[in-house]
Amino acid sequence: MQAVKKVLVVEDELKIARLVRDYLTEAGFAVVEASDGDAALAMARAERPDMILMDLGLPGMNGLDVTRRLRQTSSVPIIMLTARTEETDRVVGLELGADDYITKPFSPKELVARIRAVLRRAENTLGGGEVITAGDVIIDIPRMKVEVSGSAIDLTTSEFELLVTLARHPGRVYTRAQLLELIKGISFESYERSVDAHIKNIRKKIEADPRRPRYIQTVYGVGYRFADE
Ligand code: CA
Repeated sequence: MQAVKKVLVVEDELKIARLVRDYLTEAGFAVVEASDGDAALAMARAERPDMILMDLGLPGMNGLDVTRRLRQTSSVPIIMLTARTEETDRVVGLELGADDYITKPFSPKELVARIRAVLRRAENTLGGGEVITAGDVIIDIPRMKVEVSGSAIDLTTSEFELLVTLARHPGRVYTRAQLLELIKGISFESYERSVDAHIKNIRKKIEADPRRPRYIQTVYGVGYRFADE
């Protein structure tokens, strides 16, 4: 029997907060609530939730500020609740370390599915696999070896690091800036080559049809993610 997971819902609109609480309770989660940033930080400390659903448009300290503050001390999974018009904020939020976002209005089914996916990912990350298997792809991290359908594939160091980063957290969206930051630390050459160019190369090497990628998916307007199969 798995322990009941506790979700902290940070939302200032009472109607939405109530709706979300009802959805999540129905789905078997324990729910605690906060309607502003200060309360959210206090609740996160006191209640130790398994994950946080964070509305970005809060009065006073906004959801991005709260996320930034939380990330200074905690790696608790965070899903942002955003309005359709907040695309820039979504990108900033992901860069601050939020795990995913969901756009209002959302269905109960979508909300619960996202929360389960993020919780599952958090557990897998804690498990810390040294060899990642996804479909026909096997990534042996300590040996820096990648196999696709039993054949060894040659990747550059930057390509390997990008692939490992994406594949370690299937379903998690990474922005181009986050991925660029990662490869900048690896080689000078990467300054001049865009993330997109690296992704294109990796796809050529691991995808059966690079134009219809099965593993590395493009998230329009944001970045990339590894398929969560
Ligand atoms: Ca709001």
